[in-house]
Amino acid sequence: MIFKEHHSKRQLGATPEPGGQLAGGSQSRFVIHRHQASHLHFDFRLEMEAVLKSWAVPKGLPTEPGVRRLAVQVGDHPLDYIDFTGQIPEGQYGAGTVEIWDKGEYELSYKGDDRLEFTLKGNKLAGDYVLIHTDDKNWLIIKRRPKQA
Ligand code: MN
Repeated sequence: MIFKEHHSKRQLGATPEPGGQLAGGSQSRFVIHRHQASHLHFDFRLEMEAVLKSWAVPKGLPTEPGVRRLAVQVGDHPLDYIDFTGQIPEGQYGAGTVEIWDKGEYELSYKGDDRLEFTLKGNKLAGDYVLIHTDDKNWLIIKRRPKQA
């Protein structure tokens, strides 16, 4: 729905691009802002296509496999917002306090219009997650069970 680009399958060795990104998925950054606005929530942001794709997650991302949490997509944010902390003034949209709750890198393993699969490598959160678009701006974020060795 929001992802208009479709990346055709590329063959390793067929282009001069670094093989690691093609084979293993790219490493990009993520942040989870703890946002004490009129309602406390967490803003999950993934660096993707030169912006921060963003979701407001009222209860925060799950830490236990199988738990699903609502994630409401909000507008893209500029990349430099990834380091933002501080106060959004009264009267402004999202007025309140923004802190960084977790940050790190993630590896994208699948990207479809209505589904993203990725591995988070943060300080607090780590492991495989999936975001599934359900309707309108609503997605579910689920922590996946560790892969069997
Ligand atoms: Mn917010």
